[in-house]
Amino acid sequence: MGQKIQAVKGMNDLLPVAQKDFKLTAALWQAFEEVVAAWTKSYGYSQIRTPIVEQTGLFVRSIGEETDVVGKEMYTFADSNDKLSLSLRPEGTASCLRAVVEHNLLYNNAQKLWYMGPMFRRERPQKGRYRQFHQVGVEALGFAGPDVDAELIAMSADLWNRLGIRQYLTLEINSLGNKEERITHRAALVDYLQQHVDILDEDSKRRMHTNPLRVLDTKNPALQTMAEGAPRLVDFLGEESLSHYRTLKAMLDGLGIAYVENPRLVRGLDYYNLTVFEWTTEKLGAQATVCGGGRYNGLIEELGGKPTPSIGFALGIERLLLLVQEFGQLAVNEVPDVYVLHQGEGTSLTAMKHAASLRASGLNIYVHCGDQSLKAQLKKADSSGAAIAMIIGEQEQSDETITLKNLRSHEQKTVEAKMALSLIQDWKKA
Ligand code: ATP
Ligand code: MG
Repeated sequence: MGQKIQAVKGMNDLLPVAQKDFKLTAALWQAFEEVVAAWTKSYGYSQIRTPIVEQTGLFVRSIGEETDVVGKEMYTFADSNDKLSLSLRPEGTASCLRAVVEHNLLYNNAQKLWYMGPMFRRERPQKGRYRQFHQVGVEALGFAGPDVDAELIAMSADLWNRLGIRQYLTLEINSLGNKEERITHRAALVDYLQQHVDILDEDSKRRMHTNPLRVLDTKNPALQTMAEGAPRLVDFLGEESLSHYRTLKAMLDGLGIAYVENPRLVRGLDYYNLTVFEWTTEKLGAQATVCGGGRYNGLIEELGGKPTPSIGFALGIERLLLLVQEFGQLAVNEVPDVYVLHQGEGTSLTAMKHAASLRASGLNIYVHCGDQSLKAQLKKADSSGAAIAMIIGEQEQSDETITLKNLRSHEQKTVEAKMALSLIQDWKKA
């Protein structure tokens, strides 16, 4: 026997059953995907699917060289033929915009798009943090807002409602203003950080020069007081940025969507401006952010397209489903309506034919395969959870009848084959 090979650390199999350290099942995931498809459709967003591998330069240019994601978390390798540097995508926005620019999808100025799929980041694996994880992303391209900012936030809130977890999530919002405002604030912030340089940790000292806003995002408890006293970006915003932010807040109020203003919310990717937001929960321990997004008005131009104000968000499917599985409502039903048993010469073919015609009427039918005693088959029918067993023996086969057994009431009836459907439907209703 060969040695067993294991999955790559931080990358999970999605099985029909829960695993010890990864409880999500493929059935729950599939039910979620169906909700997502209906939800995006109900807002008029179209799906886009892009490759998992892209040129490394795409992410360096869009996400930013100094970010953790590009600086140390990407799976990057040289394509063996032409030495081109390639990377597994660490997020979806860059690929989405690359495709939009490449195929000139913005010829009539706007697109509302969504995507779903695996992303890759070489982080330390733990509950809610994986190396292959999955996101659903929504992007509204060609809209200056703030109405579309409100639509996207409301759309995310609606998804939480559909999944029954709205009450476990808190919305945090902030405005990052425009580039000039950030530059003025940055100077004041660097000044302030210089004054506190003796207490900064190594990460913060490095970020002070590369990306000082992120110092305020520090999780280090020793730096909290320093961070709280730092110059706040909102105080540097001009009238245009403030008015965008005010209108967004008024629309959220009008839609009945509660939010917390967090002036230190900056997000991990470099491309954001104006509106940023996150949905967090207290139910998942340290991995508290389930969804994050914001406006990225300069990004499409950065990627070679024409200037296009845009906004989007991405949610982490694993984190969301961990929450849904424990606290939400998402109907998962893999139980067949009818379990079909058979015994005797030629009955297995007859069973398959009956099953096919019942399936054509919309029922889910599990057909037993292989030779086993009826008693053993009935046991399996019971443990399948099906409410009804259909039995086809040699007698039924020659009489063109079928026997139905109600596994709940134990009632048993033999009827003409063509009457099977109506009896099954009666029993299902009862
Ligand atoms: P975090 O602060 O938790 O690292 P992030 O700011 O890096 O999150 P984004 O890049 O904004 O995350 O991605 C959007 C969402 O994707 C996150 O809110 C989270 O739910 C999910 N996510 C990000 N990284 C991971 C990961 N390694 N494993 C599982 N989910 C992730
Ligand atoms: Mg991260």
